[in-house]
Amino acid sequence: MDKLSVLHEEMRACRRCLTAGFDIVPGAVFRGGPGARALLIGQAPGVTEVEAKRPFNAGSGKRLFQWLGQAGWDEAEFREKHYMTAVTKCYPGKGKGGKGDRVPSKAEQKLCRPFLEREITLVNPQLMILVGGLAIKLLYPAKMRLNEVVGTAVYFPSETLANPVNFNYTDALPVQLNNNQLSINENPITNYQLPITNHQNGRFIVPLPHPSGASLWPNKPANKALIAKSVQILETIRIKLTL
Ligand code: SF4
Repeated sequence: MDKLSVLHEEMRACRRCLTAGFDIVPGAVFRGGPGARALLIGQAPGVTEVEAKRPFNAGSGKRLFQWLGQAGWDEAEFREKHYMTAVTKCYPGKGKGGKGDRVPSKAEQKLCRPFLEREITLVNPQLMILVGGLAIKLLYPAKMRLNEVVGTAVYFPSETLANPVNFNYTDALPVQLNNNQLSINENPITNYQLPITNHQNGRFIVPLPHPSGASLWPNKPANKALIAKSVQILETIRIKLTL
């Protein structure tokens, strides 16, 4: 059995959070194989995802795949070709007051982190899409607000990926999109830029907001414009890297 399949068996059998006293529904939800070149990380599965054993299965999936569809990915093709996982992989139950799902605690995130790190190492993607605040905080400084992050992207050059789980924000170079051309700002001081074609062995990171219907953030006009910019960046990366 290959290493990713071994990891998948471990994740499916995992009960760490239950044993630690968290009221989760065990049964890790993820999808994808070792050939994936894009890896998408969400927050945690919802109840319908657990039933269907499919990430972003219901309402939030509809909105997510609208955005990815605008970037040129057919939903079935994306699910088939790429890898989808989450910061924590079991359903955390409803939040207080029953509105939306509970945000997994820091302790649960820590318990599940070794799985995420092994997934990233084994898949070693060229594009990572961080969906929602919890996934975005894997990389971006906690003080950065969603509207400072969505609509931007960064790039890790191959030399920064000796450890494939590099979430060191200071190693990341800002990506710029002008007239459908992406460039990587090698030196923000001199603004010296290299075209994307020289950068096939590193990793792009693109953040997106949480697509859950419980979140009103994506509905605001200013935020819609930021999401449209993220979609344009994703489309350009998809075309350039033939993802
Ligand atoms: S969320 Fe992660 S660590 Fe917690 S029980 Fe599920 S697979 Fe295990």
